[in-house]
Amino acid sequence: MSERFEGVVVAGAGPVGLVAALKIARAGIPVQVLDCEPDIIPWPRAVVYHAPTVEMLDRLGLLDELKVAGILKQDYQFRTVDGDILAAPHMSVLTPQDTAYPFNLHMPQHELARAILRRFLAIPGAAVHWNTRVTAVAQDGDSVTVTVDQGGETRTIRCDWLVGSDGGSSTVRRAVGLSFDGYTHPERLVSTNLVYDFEARGFARANFIIDPKYWAVVVKIDRHGLWRITYGEDASLPEETVKDRIADHYRAILPDSDPYELEAFAPFRVHERCAPSFRAGRVLLAGDAAHVCNPYGGLGLTSGLLDADLLGDALPAVILREADDDLLDRYAAERRRVFVEVTGPTAAENKRRLKETDPDKKKADNERFHRLHNDPQFQREALTFTYKLLSRPIGLPEKMAR
Ligand SMILES: Cc1cc2nc3c(=O)[nH]c(=O)nc-3n(C[C@H](O)[C@H](O)[C@H](O)COP(=O)(O)OP(=O)(O)OC[C@H]3O[C@@H](n4cnc5c(N)ncnc54)[C@H](O)[C@@H]3O)c2cc1C
Repeated sequence: MSERFEGVVVAGAGPVGLVAALKIARAGIPVQVLDCEPDIIPWPRAVVYHAPTVEMLDRLGLLDELKVAGILKQDYQFRTVDGDILAAPHMSVLTPQDTAYPFNLHMPQHELARAILRRFLAIPGAAVHWNTRVTAVAQDGDSVTVTVDQGGETRTIRCDWLVGSDGGSSTVRRAVGLSFDGYTHPERLVSTNLVYDFEARGFARANFIIDPKYWAVVVKIDRHGLWRITYGEDASLPEETVKDRIADHYRAILPDSDPYELEAFAPFRVHERCAPSFRAGRVLLAGDAAHVCNPYGGLGLTSGLLDADLLGDALPAVILREADDDLLDRYAAERRRVFVEVTGPTAAENKRRLKETDPDKKKADNERFHRLHNDPQFQREALTFTYKLLSRPIGLPEKMAR
Protein backbone atom coordinates (compact mmCIF):
# COMPACT_ATOMS: atom_id res chain seq x y z
CA MET A 1 0.00 0.00 0.00
CA SER A 2 1.28 3.46 -0.87
CA GLU A 3 0.14 6.81 0.49
CA ARG A 4 0.95 10.41 -0.49
CA PHE A 5 1.07 12.63 2.61
CA GLU A 6 1.48 16.35 2.07
CA GLY A 7 3.22 17.20 5.30
CA VAL A 8 5.95 16.10 7.69
CA VAL A 9 6.53 12.56 8.95
CA VAL A 10 8.29 12.31 12.31
CA ALA A 11 10.01 8.95 12.95
CA GLY A 12 10.02 8.27 16.70
CA ALA A 13 7.61 9.35 19.43
CA GLY A 14 10.27 10.02 22.06
CA PRO A 15 10.28 13.44 23.76
CA VAL A 16 12.38 14.92 20.93
CA GLY A 17 10.13 13.74 18.09
CA LEU A 18 7.04 14.81 20.02
CA VAL A 19 8.33 18.36 20.66
CA ALA A 20 9.22 18.71 16.96
CA ALA A 21 5.79 17.33 15.98
CA LEU A 22 3.96 19.63 18.40
CA LYS A 23 5.68 22.76 17.10
CA ILE A 24 5.28 21.81 13.43
CA ALA A 25 1.57 20.98 13.94
CA ARG A 26 1.01 24.25 15.83
CA ALA A 27 2.38 26.06 12.76
CA GLY A 28 -0.57 24.57 10.86
CA ILE A 29 1.41 21.93 8.95
CA PRO A 30 0.07 18.34 8.75
CA VAL A 31 2.24 15.94 10.81
CA GLN A 32 2.14 12.23 11.45
CA VAL A 33 4.38 10.51 13.98
CA LEU A 34 5.43 6.87 13.57
CA ASP A 35 6.74 4.71 16.41
CA CYS A 36 7.70 1.04 16.39
CA GLU A 37 6.52 0.45 19.98
CA PRO A 38 2.87 -0.06 21.01
CA ASP A 39 3.03 3.01 23.32
CA ILE A 40 5.52 5.18 25.24
CA ILE A 41 7.75 2.74 27.16
CA PRO A 42 8.45 3.57 30.85
CA TRP A 43 12.19 2.76 30.78
CA PRO A 44 14.27 4.28 33.63
CA ARG A 45 16.00 6.90 31.48
CA ALA A 46 16.09 10.71 31.79
CA VAL A 47 15.00 12.44 34.99
CA VAL A 48 16.74 15.85 35.04
CA TYR A 49 15.86 18.78 32.76
CA HIS A 50 18.05 21.88 32.99
CA ALA A 51 16.93 25.51 33.09
CA PRO A 52 17.09 26.19 29.30
CA THR A 53 14.85 23.17 28.69
CA VAL A 54 12.51 24.27 31.46
CA GLU A 55 12.30 27.66 29.78
CA MET A 56 11.52 26.00 26.43
CA LEU A 57 8.83 23.79 28.01
CA ASP A 58 7.33 26.95 29.50
CA ARG A 59 7.21 28.58 26.06
CA LEU A 60 5.34 25.50 24.84
CA GLY A 61 2.77 26.07 27.61
CA LEU A 62 3.67 22.86 29.45
CA LEU A 63 5.50 24.04 32.55
CA ASP A 64 2.55 24.58 34.91
CA GLU A 65 1.37 21.01 34.34
CA LEU A 66 4.91 19.59 34.59
CA LYS A 67 5.61 21.44 37.84
CA VAL A 68 2.68 19.60 39.41
CA ALA A 69 3.63 16.21 37.96
CA GLY A 70 7.39 16.53 38.66
CA ILE A 71 9.55 18.22 41.27
CA LEU A 72 11.81 21.28 41.17
CA LYS A 73 15.43 20.99 42.28
CA GLN A 74 18.02 23.59 43.27
CA ASP A 75 20.53 21.60 45.32
CA TYR A 76 23.47 19.46 44.23
CA GLN A 77 26.12 17.57 46.15
CA PHE A 78 29.41 16.06 45.09
CA ARG A 79 30.22 13.42 47.74
CA THR A 80 32.61 10.62 48.46
CA VAL A 81 31.11 7.18 48.89
CA ASP A 82 31.85 7.54 52.63
CA GLY A 83 29.56 10.55 52.83
CA ASP A 84 32.07 13.44 52.84
CA ILE A 85 30.64 16.42 50.99
CA LEU A 86 33.13 17.84 48.47
CA ALA A 87 30.88 20.60 47.11
CA ALA A 88 27.24 21.59 47.52
CA PRO A 89 26.29 24.12 44.82
CA HIS A 90 22.81 25.56 45.12
CA MET A 91 20.78 27.31 42.43
CA SER A 92 19.48 29.84 44.96
CA VAL A 93 22.74 31.78 44.29
CA LEU A 94 21.44 32.61 40.80
CA THR A 95 20.09 36.10 40.23
CA PRO A 96 17.23 37.19 37.91
CA GLN A 97 19.99 38.37 35.52
CA ASP A 98 21.34 34.82 35.39
CA THR A 99 17.99 33.15 34.69
CA ALA A 100 14.28 33.48 35.29
CA TYR A 101 14.29 29.71 35.94
CA PRO A 102 16.70 29.12 38.86
CA PHE A 103 15.79 25.45 39.17
CA ASN A 104 15.77 22.15 37.31
CA LEU A 105 12.72 20.02 36.67
CA HIS A 106 12.86 16.34 37.66
CA MET A 107 10.40 13.81 36.30
CA PRO A 108 10.57 10.46 34.49
CA GLN A 109 11.18 10.82 30.76
CA HIS A 110 8.10 8.77 29.84
CA GLU A 111 5.86 11.11 31.87
CA LEU A 112 7.35 14.12 30.11
CA ALA A 113 6.77 12.42 26.74
CA ARG A 114 3.18 11.61 27.69
CA ALA A 115 2.48 15.25 28.61
CA ILE A 116 3.85 16.46 25.24
CA LEU A 117 1.90 13.72 23.45
CA ARG A 118 -1.39 14.88 25.01
CA ARG A 119 -0.80 18.43 23.71
CA PHE A 120 0.10 17.12 20.26
CA LEU A 121 -2.97 14.87 20.00
CA ALA A 122 -5.22 17.78 21.01
CA ILE A 123 -4.40 19.45 17.66
CA PRO A 124 -6.98 18.55 14.99
CA GLY A 125 -5.52 16.10 12.46
CA ALA A 126 -2.44 15.24 14.58
CA ALA A 127 -1.78 11.49 14.64
CA VAL A 128 0.65 8.99 16.14
CA HIS A 129 0.82 5.54 14.51
CA TRP A 130 2.13 3.04 17.04
CA ASN A 131 3.51 -0.40 16.09
CA THR A 132 4.84 1.24 12.94
CA ARG A 133 8.53 0.69 12.29
CA VAL A 134 10.42 2.73 9.71
CA THR A 135 12.51 0.26 7.71
CA ALA A 136 13.77 2.28 4.74
CA VAL A 137 14.01 5.84 3.44
CA ALA A 138 14.48 7.11 -0.11
CA GLN A 139 14.23 10.65 -1.44
CA ASP A 140 14.25 12.79 -4.55
CA GLY A 141 14.27 16.57 -4.88
CA ASP A 142 10.55 16.92 -4.02
CA SER A 143 9.67 14.23 -1.50
CA VAL A 144 10.80 11.49 0.88
CA THR A 145 9.47 7.94 0.66
CA VAL A 146 9.34 6.22 4.02
CA THR A 147 8.86 2.45 4.07
CA VAL A 148 7.24 1.07 7.21
CA ASP A 149 6.41 -2.28 8.69
CA GLN A 150 3.00 -2.16 10.36
CA GLY A 151 2.18 -5.46 12.06
CA GLY A 152 3.99 -7.46 9.36
CA GLU A 153 2.50 -5.46 6.50
CA THR A 154 4.77 -3.23 4.43
CA ARG A 155 3.55 0.14 3.19
CA THR A 156 5.11 3.34 1.94
CA ILE A 157 4.36 6.96 2.80
CA ARG A 158 5.58 9.62 0.37
CA CYS A 159 5.84 12.86 2.37
CA ASP A 160 7.42 16.30 1.95
CA TRP A 161 9.91 16.12 4.84
CA LEU A 162 11.10 13.50 7.33
CA VAL A 163 12.33 14.16 10.87
CA GLY A 164 14.56 11.34 12.15
CA SER A 165 14.08 11.29 15.92
CA ASP A 166 14.16 7.52 16.24
CA GLY A 167 16.81 7.31 18.97
CA GLY A 168 20.46 6.24 19.14
CA SER A 169 20.04 3.20 16.85
CA SER A 170 18.23 5.41 14.31
CA THR A 171 17.11 3.57 11.17
CA VAL A 172 16.58 6.94 9.48
CA ARG A 173 20.22 7.98 10.08
CA ARG A 174 21.51 4.70 8.64
CA ALA A 175 19.06 4.78 5.73
CA VAL A 176 20.40 8.15 4.56
CA GLY A 177 23.96 6.82 4.83
CA LEU A 178 25.15 8.90 7.79
CA SER A 179 27.75 7.36 10.11
CA PHE A 180 27.72 7.72 13.91
CA ASP A 181 31.27 8.56 14.82
CA GLY A 182 32.67 8.34 18.33
CA TYR A 183 33.11 5.57 20.87
CA THR A 184 31.30 3.27 23.27
CA HIS A 185 32.31 3.24 26.94
CA PRO A 186 33.71 -0.08 28.15
CA GLU A 187 31.41 -0.26 31.19
CA ARG A 188 27.78 -1.23 31.45
CA LEU A 189 25.60 1.39 33.08
CA VAL A 190 22.87 0.19 35.43
CA SER A 191 19.93 2.51 35.95
CA THR A 192 17.83 1.67 39.01
CA ASN A 193 14.76 3.26 40.61
CA LEU A 194 14.15 2.73 44.30
CA VAL A 195 11.97 3.98 47.12
CA TYR A 196 14.27 5.27 49.90
CA ASP A 197 14.45 8.68 51.58
CA PHE A 198 17.91 10.06 50.77
CA GLU A 199 16.86 13.62 51.58
CA ALA A 200 16.08 12.70 55.19
CA ARG A 201 19.64 11.34 55.36
CA GLY A 202 21.31 14.61 54.28
CA PHE A 203 21.58 14.07 50.54
CA ALA A 204 20.69 16.77 48.00
CA ARG A 205 18.12 16.14 45.28
CA ALA A 206 20.98 15.52 42.80
CA ASN A 207 24.19 13.87 44.00
CA PHE A 208 27.38 12.77 42.28
CA ILE A 209 29.20 10.01 44.16
CA ILE A 210 32.92 10.27 43.38
CA ASP A 211 34.62 6.90 43.72
CA PRO A 212 36.76 4.71 41.44
CA LYS A 213 34.55 1.66 42.11
CA TYR A 214 31.15 2.83 43.37
CA TRP A 215 30.84 5.98 41.22
CA ALA A 216 27.20 6.83 40.76
CA VAL A 217 24.56 9.51 40.56
CA VAL A 218 21.71 9.62 43.06
CA VAL A 219 18.74 11.75 42.00
CA LYS A 220 15.28 12.37 43.39
CA ILE A 221 12.66 11.47 40.75
CA ASP A 222 9.31 12.47 42.20
CA ARG A 223 7.39 13.61 45.26
CA HIS A 224 6.34 10.05 46.13
CA GLY A 225 9.75 8.95 47.43
CA LEU A 226 11.15 7.51 44.19
CA TRP A 227 14.89 7.98 43.60
CA ARG A 228 17.31 7.01 40.84
CA ILE A 229 20.73 5.46 41.35
CA THR A 230 22.77 5.00 38.20
CA TYR A 231 26.11 3.24 38.54
CA GLY A 232 28.60 1.48 36.32
CA GLU A 233 29.81 -2.11 36.27
CA ASP A 234 32.18 -4.23 34.23
CA ALA A 235 30.44 -5.08 30.96
CA SER A 236 32.03 -8.54 30.92
CA LEU A 237 29.80 -9.56 33.86
CA PRO A 238 26.72 -11.42 32.61
CA GLU A 239 23.82 -9.12 31.78
CA GLU A 240 21.27 -11.72 33.00
CA THR A 241 22.59 -11.34 36.56
CA VAL A 242 22.61 -7.52 36.75
CA LYS A 243 19.81 -7.65 39.30
CA ASP A 244 21.77 -9.96 41.64
CA ARG A 245 24.55 -7.35 41.91
CA ILE A 246 22.36 -4.33 42.68
CA ALA A 247 22.34 -5.03 46.45
CA ASP A 248 26.19 -4.93 46.52
CA HIS A 249 26.24 -1.47 44.97
CA TYR A 250 23.45 -0.28 47.23
CA ARG A 251 25.37 -1.50 50.30
CA ALA A 252 28.21 0.83 49.35
CA ILE A 253 26.12 3.79 48.23
CA LEU A 254 23.22 3.84 50.74
CA PRO A 255 24.23 5.47 54.04
CA ASP A 256 22.56 2.79 56.19
CA SER A 257 21.08 -0.69 55.96
CA ASP A 258 17.45 0.43 56.31
CA PRO A 259 15.07 -1.30 53.91
CA TYR A 260 14.53 0.04 50.40
CA GLU A 261 12.19 -1.02 47.63
CA LEU A 262 13.67 -1.64 44.19
CA GLU A 263 11.08 -0.39 41.72
CA ALA A 264 12.78 -0.79 38.32
CA PHE A 265 16.19 -1.38 36.76
CA ALA A 266 17.69 -1.54 33.30
CA PRO A 267 21.21 -2.06 31.93
CA PHE A 268 22.47 0.29 29.18
CA ARG A 269 25.62 0.66 27.08
CA VAL A 270 26.67 4.28 26.83
CA HIS A 271 28.27 6.03 23.91
CA GLU A 272 29.74 9.37 22.90
CA ARG A 273 28.77 9.62 19.23
CA CYS A 274 27.61 12.16 16.68
CA ALA A 275 26.48 12.07 13.04
CA PRO A 276 28.67 14.01 10.56
CA SER A 277 25.61 16.03 9.49
CA PHE A 278 22.13 16.48 10.97
CA ARG A 279 20.66 16.98 7.48
CA ALA A 280 20.51 14.84 4.35
CA GLY A 281 18.32 16.57 1.76
CA ARG A 282 14.72 16.45 3.01
CA VAL A 283 15.66 14.41 6.07
CA LEU A 284 16.54 16.20 9.34
CA LEU A 285 17.96 14.49 12.43
CA ALA A 286 17.33 15.52 16.04
CA GLY A 287 17.98 14.12 19.53
CA ASP A 288 19.67 10.78 20.08
CA ALA A 289 19.33 9.94 16.38
CA ALA A 290 21.85 12.74 15.75
CA HIS A 291 24.04 12.54 18.87
CA VAL A 292 24.40 10.52 22.05
CA CYS A 293 26.40 11.02 25.24
CA ASN A 294 26.63 9.42 28.67
CA PRO A 295 23.84 10.54 31.05
CA TYR A 296 26.07 12.00 33.83
CA GLY A 297 25.00 15.61 34.16
CA GLY A 298 21.70 15.05 32.30
CA LEU A 299 22.77 16.65 29.03
CA GLY A 300 21.52 14.17 26.38
CA LEU A 301 17.81 14.84 26.31
CA THR A 302 18.33 18.47 27.30
CA SER A 303 20.36 18.92 24.08
CA GLY A 304 17.89 16.84 22.08
CA LEU A 305 14.90 18.89 23.21
CA LEU A 306 16.75 22.05 22.21
CA ASP A 307 17.35 20.50 18.74
CA ALA A 308 13.61 19.87 18.44
CA ASP A 309 12.85 23.40 19.59
CA LEU A 310 14.98 24.94 16.85
CA LEU A 311 13.87 22.48 14.16
CA GLY A 312 10.26 23.13 15.17
CA ASP A 313 10.80 26.78 14.17
CA ALA A 314 13.09 26.31 11.17
CA LEU A 315 11.18 23.61 9.29
CA PRO A 316 7.79 25.41 9.36
CA ALA A 317 9.53 28.63 8.26
CA VAL A 318 10.90 26.84 5.18
CA ILE A 319 7.63 24.99 4.44
CA LEU A 320 5.60 28.19 4.76
CA ARG A 321 8.13 29.97 2.50
CA GLU A 322 9.09 32.47 5.17
CA ALA A 323 12.74 31.40 4.85
CA ASP A 324 15.04 29.82 2.30
CA ASP A 325 15.83 26.16 2.41
CA ASP A 326 19.37 26.84 3.61
CA LEU A 327 17.92 27.77 7.02
CA LEU A 328 17.81 24.00 7.53
CA ASP A 329 21.53 23.72 6.82
CA ARG A 330 22.08 26.32 9.49
CA TYR A 331 19.84 24.36 11.89
CA ALA A 332 21.93 21.25 11.24
CA ALA A 333 25.27 23.02 11.58
CA GLU A 334 24.32 24.91 14.75
CA ARG A 335 22.92 21.97 16.67
CA ARG A 336 25.92 19.85 15.65
CA ARG A 337 28.25 22.63 16.84
CA VAL A 338 26.52 22.65 20.24
CA PHE A 339 26.97 18.92 20.61
CA VAL A 340 30.58 18.78 19.42
CA GLU A 341 31.76 21.87 21.32
CA VAL A 342 29.64 21.77 24.48
CA THR A 343 27.42 18.75 25.19
CA GLY A 344 29.79 15.93 24.24
CA PRO A 345 32.99 17.21 25.94
CA THR A 346 31.09 18.22 29.11
CA ALA A 347 29.33 14.86 29.44
CA ALA A 348 32.64 13.02 28.93
CA GLU A 349 34.30 15.21 31.58
CA ASN A 350 31.41 14.67 34.03
CA LYS A 351 31.86 10.92 33.72
CA ARG A 352 35.66 11.05 34.00
CA ARG A 353 35.47 13.09 37.20
CA LEU A 354 33.20 10.52 38.87
CA LYS A 355 35.80 7.73 38.76
CA GLU A 356 39.17 9.47 38.29
CA THR A 357 42.21 7.66 39.76
CA ASP A 358 45.11 9.66 38.28
CA PRO A 359 46.60 11.60 41.25
CA ASP A 360 47.26 14.84 39.31
CA LYS A 361 43.79 14.90 37.79
CA LYS A 362 42.24 14.00 41.12
CA LYS A 363 44.08 16.92 42.74
CA ALA A 364 42.79 19.31 40.06
CA ASP A 365 39.26 17.91 40.51
CA ASN A 366 39.43 18.42 44.26
CA GLU A 367 40.58 22.00 43.75
CA ARG A 368 37.61 22.52 41.45
CA PHE A 369 35.22 21.04 44.06
CA HIS A 370 36.72 23.35 46.69
CA ARG A 371 36.13 26.37 44.47
CA LEU A 372 32.63 25.21 43.58
CA HIS A 373 31.85 24.98 47.27
CA ASN A 374 33.41 28.28 48.36
CA ASP A 375 33.34 30.71 45.45
CA PRO A 376 29.79 31.99 44.73
CA GLN A 377 30.82 33.51 41.39
CA PHE A 378 32.29 30.20 40.21
CA GLN A 379 29.14 28.45 41.44
CA ARG A 380 26.96 30.82 39.36
CA GLU A 381 29.10 30.14 36.29
CA ALA A 382 28.86 26.38 36.79
CA LEU A 383 25.11 26.47 37.43
CA THR A 384 24.35 28.56 34.33
CA PHE A 385 26.67 26.52 32.13
CA THR A 386 23.71 24.71 30.52
CA TYR A 387 22.72 27.95 28.74
CA LYS A 388 25.67 27.15 26.46
CA LEU A 389 23.47 24.35 25.08
CA LEU A 390 21.15 26.94 23.53
CA SER A 391 21.39 27.66 19.81
CA ARG A 392 23.04 30.79 18.53
CA PRO A 393 20.88 32.80 16.10
CA ILE A 394 20.55 31.06 12.72
CA GLY A 395 18.48 33.70 10.90
CA LEU A 396 14.94 32.61 11.82
CA PRO A 397 12.19 34.92 10.53
CA GLU A 398 11.68 37.93 12.81
CA LYS A 399 8.54 36.64 14.57
CA MET A 400 10.32 33.43 15.67
CA ALA A 401 13.73 34.87 16.50
CA ARG A 402 14.70 34.48 20.15
C1 LIG B 1 19.95 5.78 32.38
C2 LIG B 1 19.80 7.03 31.55
C3 LIG B 1 19.55 8.23 32.19
C4 LIG B 1 19.43 9.41 31.46
N1 LIG B 1 19.19 10.57 32.13
C5 LIG B 1 19.11 11.74 31.44
C6 LIG B 1 18.78 12.95 32.11
O1 LIG B 1 18.56 12.96 33.32
N2 LIG B 1 18.69 14.10 31.36
C7 LIG B 1 18.90 14.10 30.01
O2 LIG B 1 18.84 15.18 29.38
N3 LIG B 1 19.15 12.93 29.33
C8 LIG B 1 19.26 11.76 30.00
N4 LIG B 1 19.45 10.58 29.34
C9 LIG B 1 19.48 10.58 27.86
C10 LIG B 1 18.03 10.51 27.31
O3 LIG B 1 17.37 9.38 27.82
C11 LIG B 1 18.04 10.48 25.77
O4 LIG B 1 18.85 11.55 25.33
C12 LIG B 1 16.62 10.59 25.22
O5 LIG B 1 15.92 9.38 25.34
C13 LIG B 1 16.62 10.98 23.75
O6 LIG B 1 15.29 11.19 23.32
P1 LIG B 1 14.87 10.93 21.82
O7 LIG B 1 13.44 11.35 21.72
O8 LIG B 1 15.88 11.54 20.91
O9 LIG B 1 15.04 9.37 21.60
P2 LIG B 1 14.28 8.17 22.33
O10 LIG B 1 13.79 8.57 23.65
O11 LIG B 1 15.20 6.99 22.23
O12 LIG B 1 13.00 7.93 21.41
C14 LIG B 1 13.12 7.33 20.13
C15 LIG B 1 11.77 6.76 19.75
O13 LIG B 1 11.90 6.22 18.42
C16 LIG B 1 11.25 4.96 18.37
N5 LIG B 1 11.91 4.21 17.29
C17 LIG B 1 13.13 3.64 17.28
N6 LIG B 1 13.38 3.07 16.08
C18 LIG B 1 12.29 3.29 15.31
C19 LIG B 1 11.95 2.95 13.98
N7 LIG B 1 12.78 2.28 13.18
N8 LIG B 1 10.72 3.32 13.50
C20 LIG B 1 9.85 4.01 14.30
N9 LIG B 1 10.13 4.36 15.58
C21 LIG B 1 11.34 4.02 16.08
C22 LIG B 1 11.43 4.38 19.76
O14 LIG B 1 10.42 3.43 20.05
C23 LIG B 1 11.31 5.62 20.64
O15 LIG B 1 9.98 5.87 21.06
C24 LIG B 1 19.57 9.38 30.04
C25 LIG B 1 19.81 8.15 29.39
C26 LIG B 1 19.92 7.00 30.14
C27 LIG B 1 20.18 5.69 29.43
